[in-house]
Parts: sequence; C-alpha cells; structure tokens
Amino acid sequence: MPIDPLPPLREVIDRHDLRAKKSLGQNFLLDLNLTSKIARQAGDLTDCDVLEIGPGPGGLTRGLLAEGARRVLAVEKDPRCLAALQEIEAAYPGRLTTLNADALSVDVTKHLTAPIKIAANLPYNVGTELLVRWLTPKEWPPFWDSLTLMFQKEVAQRIVAQPGDKHYGRLAILAQWRCDAKIVMSLPPEAFTPAPKVHSAVVHLTALQKPKFEADAKTLQSLVAAAFNQRRKMLRSSLKSILPDPEAALTAVGIPPTARAEEISIELFCALARHVKSTQV
Ligand code: SAM
Repeated sequence: MPIDPLPPLREVIDRHDLRAKKSLGQNFLLDLNLTSKIARQAGDLTDCDVLEIGPGPGGLTRGLLAEGARRVLAVEKDPRCLAALQEIEAAYPGRLTTLNADALSVDVTKHLTAPIKIAANLPYNVGTELLVRWLTPKEWPPFWDSLTLMFQKEVAQRIVAQPGDKHYGRLAILAQWRCDAKIVMSLPPEAFTPAPKVHSAVVHLTALQKPKFEADAKTLQSLVAAAFNQRRKMLRSSLKSILPDPEAALTAVGIPPTARAEEISIELFCALARHVKSTQV
C-alpha cells in the first residue's frame, strides 16, 4: 500500500534532477515504508510539531506526515529540493512549512509550537554539531521533547555507550546525563541512494525533566571535555588544564587519581562537578 498519493521518490528525484551532492551529505532514503517506520520510532506525532533537518527530496518528510504529524517544519539548505518539497506541501495543506536555510544558523523555535519532536536523517557533516547544540541549551528541559535521528553507526554507538566501552566519551555523557538514549534501528548502506561506505543507525533520545544527577552544566561540560581530550591519560594529569589540584578533587569524591576518563560513570563525573563548583571562589 502506498503511504500517500504522491509519486515515488525515484521519479521525484529524476524529474527535479536531484543528483546527490557529497558536500551536503546527501544520502537519500527512497523507500517510503522505511521512512514511515523511522517516523514511527518518534512515537505519537498527532499532537506534535516536528522539526526535520535536511528533508532533501522528502522521503522522511512524507513518512512523518503520513504518520500523522500535526505540522512539520523542514529546514533544507539545498535550494534544488524546494520544488519537490512544495509538491508535498500541496498534498498536505497547512501541515508542512519549508525553510531554505542552513540549520546551523537559523532560529527554528519561533516557527514551532510545543510539544515539539525532532526527527531527521542528518547530513553527516553537521549531524554531531546539531546534536551537541540540542543537548546543551541554556535552559533544561529543552524546547524539544524527543530526538529521533539517523547517524553513522559509529556516532550512534558513541551516544549510547557505557563506561568502559571504547565508544564512551563526551557525547555519551552529554546525551545520557539529561536524556534516555537508545538505538532503535540499524540500516545497511544499501538502504540509501547513493550508498554510503558505512552502516547507519537511528537513535531515539527522550529529554528528561531533570538531569539524572545534579551538577552545574558548564562545570560538568568543561570537566568532561578536558578529561576526554586526553582520554588515554590519567585524570590527575588530563584535568590539570582546568583544575589547580586535580588529585585532591578526585580523591574528595572517591575517584582514584590514576583512573582514566573512559572508566568514570556519569554519576561520578557529576559528583566531581558538584565538588569543583562548591570549592570555586
Ligand atoms: N531526509 C532526506 C532523506 O532521508 O532522504 C535527506 C537526508 S540527507 C542524509 C541530508 C540532507 O540534509 C540533505 O538533503 C542535505 O541537502 C541537507 N543538509 C546538508 N547540510 C545542511 C544544513 N547545514 N542545513 C540544512 N540542511 C542541510
């Protein structure tokens, strides 16, 4: 059963001459049953505005609309895609708004009404940067309730990694401190046109109302950045760049000064952040 009365994506791409550009991270999903399945990973969309970054020819956009999204705001940098997106706007009157803009420099919040979910097959070149921005706003909870995002599999593994895992690092801590994060789908390269070199995965993150452990966000982020900047070094040495006496701070919260960042849980990083904040003058 087709998901909508619009033409197949291959036809759309041919008609609008949308040859994929590597510089824009364009790997398109052309199977609308697959894009609907990805849209379903975002949960019930019927009462939500959905922000989609990089709709391209509109495969995931159509999935989100067919799955009942109240409204979709689609931000696309490539002007070549606009005509194809206008056809989707016409098929779903009043439910799709397209912005021809760079997602890194546009303020989307003024175009959206809560509750808001974000869903995207992100361009690989700006995907991590966008995720970090969504995870580190000034205020928490953020403007969005959940993120359903396609990444290269290795980035997805870094988001859900646990202490001791080789993928565990800054991204895992930023993501899991204030969100529940899990991988909900894995996709082989052949699912995309053109096929990328690597496998991909969809990560679903739900924003928690409160962080799992108390800590000042700025202090935690600077500790984690310094600790993982030199991840092979012992913490007593890697934290020298930001703490006057790292050994004393680590000992005060029960972390062996010889430990490495990749062994330390989010709970312990938060304890360290609280201690550092409380001893700052
Ligand atoms: N959503 C489509 C799909 O699943 O088939 C396309 C996904 S493709 C991986 C990434 C899309 O992001 C492309 O359409 C590309 O033009 C767009 N894009 C790349 N950089 C962007 C940016 N800075 N802001 C907005 N869109 C961008």
